Amino acid sequence: MARKVKQAGPREEPFIGADGEYPESGMSAPDADPEWVGRIRLRLVDWYEGAGRKLPWREDRDPYRILVSEMMLVQTTVTAVVPFFARFLARFPTVSALAEADEADVLKAWEGLGYYRRARQLQAAARAIVANHGGAFPDDPEAIRALPGVGRYIAGALLSFAFDRPAPIVEANTQRVLARWLAWGDDLRSTRSQARLWEAAARLVPHAGAGAFNQAFMELGALVCVPRKPLCLACPVSGDCASRKLGVQDRIPIATAKTSPKEVSEACVLVSREGKMLIVKRGTGRLWEHFWEFPTIHVAGSDPAGRGLVEGETTDLDEGLRRLTGVRASIGPVARTVRFGVTTHRVTLEAHEAEWLEGEPTPGPGLVEAAWEPVEALDRYTLSSASRRLVAWLGQK
Ligand code: SF4
Repeated sequence: MARKVKQAGPREEPFIGADGEYPESGMSAPDADPEWVGRIRLRLVDWYEGAGRKLPWREDRDPYRILVSEMMLVQTTVTAVVPFFARFLARFPTVSALAEADEADVLKAWEGLGYYRRARQLQAAARAIVANHGGAFPDDPEAIRALPGVGRYIAGALLSFAFDRPAPIVEANTQRVLARWLAWGDDLRSTRSQARLWEAAARLVPHAGAGAFNQAFMELGALVCVPRKPLCLACPVSGDCASRKLGVQDRIPIATAKTSPKEVSEACVLVSREGKMLIVKRGTGRLWEHFWEFPTIHVAGSDPAGRGLVEGETTDLDEGLRRLTGVRASIGPVARTVRFGVTTHRVTLEAHEAEWLEGEPTPGPGLVEAAWEPVEALDRYTLSSASRRLVAWLGQK
């Protein structure tokens, strides 16, 4: 008999009620049933043995490789991470090598992956492991959670993948799978939803074989229970999926309205002098800290990067350049426009070419260094993503 299901929407009741009952079907929360849990574990791991992808960080249980991969995979796809992972491991093959490295070298090896805060946290974690644990990864949940940048999810991944501890994981893939298994019709970002999903993940993870189960769980979300149009006909656990039973798998997780990005305008100056370009290094405590860029001023909109010169101080490029670097230049019209996203901001950066007139570079507000370098040498610097794109453009001219 076809079941009648309420229309989904962010403001409506979840398909499953707070008491664990499905309001219109009389079903109970499946994860309260040990038999359901047992079937899911068995079928998922069986399926994964044949269908799981061979990924470089799955080759062994080395916690260092697992930590590097998990830090890289934050907000980034597996396909994008694979080549970075190999290069990073070749450059910093052990936790000690990473702990001892210069931060600039680590950021350079991370260049192109984005989310540089992750690279800094990864190195801080490596330094904590060397300083507090003699270079050996702790396998104690509290010690792992105390590492910089290691939240509940990464701790669960480390504990289960490296040490086979029964630690639950909830991340983008598994929270979608869980929401569908439970027919969870509430906004996944809510505290109530997160608490419920972590509870279900904890019930599901087995005491033996936790690593294989969690890998299989994530892989199902990546390959089969995908965000749009889940491949239910190929799903090893379709018979135990509440969403599929209720016919709501295409409506779960509930889509929530995204807030529009804030528009920001910036301008930078590509000052040249006898074949060299003027670049500046950002100071501590702001986005892009310790990154090099072309002298840049904030023109309009909220300021995502905390530029040294902010709106209201000056939107005049001549004056901005002088205050940022002590240099005067003959500045031309916009030569190149670069658009990029930073956190919740959408930035439009207009780059002007300019010829040096006078003044030796001195770092101004928010900056710690200034230098002249030929375009071909700029690749050695850790550049902000926008400056890297401008350097690539300059190199092609
Ligand atoms: Fe996802 Fe469909 Fe499998 Fe349910 S049956 S877990 S919705 S792929």
